[in-house]
Amino acid sequence: MRPRKPAIRTCIGCGTSEDKREVVRFVRMPDGTVEVDPTGKANGRGAYVHTSLECFETAIRKRKITSALRTHVNEDDIGRLRAEFERVLEQRGTFDHEDGDA
Ligand SMILES: [Zn+2]
Repeated sequence: MRPRKPAIRTCIGCGTSEDKREVVRFVRMPDGTVEVDPTGKANGRGAYVHTSLECFETAIRKRKITSALRTHVNEDDIGRLRAEFERVLEQRGTFDHEDGDA
């Protein structure tokens, strides 16, 4: 049995922690591909990135996401993940306005 974990995740882009509602989870699927996991509930090794394209780009370009997930992403994967990530941002309303505390 493990102790209860607080709902704090560390963003692999900028390396700081936030409440899990303010990050997007990426998950490594059994076949080694990386998917966006908007619910945060998918099985597999996960990594968290703030709901920020800047953090996303840092995580991708510095290959933090590949080391965190111990897999590889190619250019096609990056394009696909960026599109999915942007869709999550839109759904959460973080593109055009900010909710709550800044
Ligand atoms: Zn970040």
